[in-house]
Amino acid sequence: MNNSKYIFFVFISFFFINSYANKSPNWGPTGHRTVAEVANNHLSKKAKKNISKILNGQSLVFVSTYGDDIKSDKKYDKFKPWHYVNYPFGTTYNNSKKNPKGDVVMGIEKCISILKNKNTNKEEQAFYLKLLVHLVGDLHQPLHVGLASDKGGNDFQVRWFNKGTNLHRVWDSQMIESYNMSYTELSNNLFDYSKESIKQIQSGSTEQWADEIHQLAEKVYKSATIGEKLSYNYSYQNFNIVRKQLYISGLRLATILNDIYV
Ligand SMILES: [Zn+2]
Repeated sequence: MNNSKYIFFVFISFFFINSYANKSPNWGPTGHRTVAEVANNHLSKKAKKNISKILNGQSLVFVSTYGDDIKSDKKYDKFKPWHYVNYPFGTTYNNSKKNPKGDVVMGIEKCISILKNKNTNKEEQAFYLKLLVHLVGDLHQPLHVGLASDKGGNDFQVRWFNKGTNLHRVWDSQMIESYNMSYTELSNNLFDYSKESIKQIQSGSTEQWADEIHQLAEKVYKSATIGEKLSYNYSYQNFNIVRKQLYISGLRLATILNDIYV
């Protein structure tokens, strides 16, 4: 290969690698793994034991991206609406029109009820446990509780370090990935809240959490304009919100699991 051909080849490879990486949906692997790691650090002994048995020794971190992995299999299409919920700002989850195919709140509730039901087999338990770990993560990404009109920011076009993308993807994965920290580094560098604050965060229902995140989503929509070029300054202004959401999500996942495996 002569020099110019080689350069062209490298360029094309980079282009494909990058455009593939950009397609990672939901928090992205690092985000979901961070949520699972935080939860794992707050599990009761009993919950840890039960989870390890159900997952045949696999960790919560390992299974946290399962919900997205199965998206490519048509067999699981009915679970796709479980990753998000959209409703207008100024309304609450309870007062809004529900998607008959389900949403992230219903999905989480369904997983919990199946996991609490002693008559389900181990295979079902493992499936819904893996899904639950993922969905509690998704719920806390503000744009998973956004507006239907632009598919939770998926049609909200912006530029991220001069590359075309959308606001949803920036919040799912691009802000996190640009920090280039592993899930362990990230989970070790979140927040050091008091026991009382943690208790406060862990209280409330799934619907209440959705409404809280929905209000945050309203701010996220105002954080950028269509076509805006986002880079370091946007991360500087918003990455703390991402870190907080990852942390809160992990704490709430832990309390849900501790409650299932009492
Ligand atoms: Zn998801």
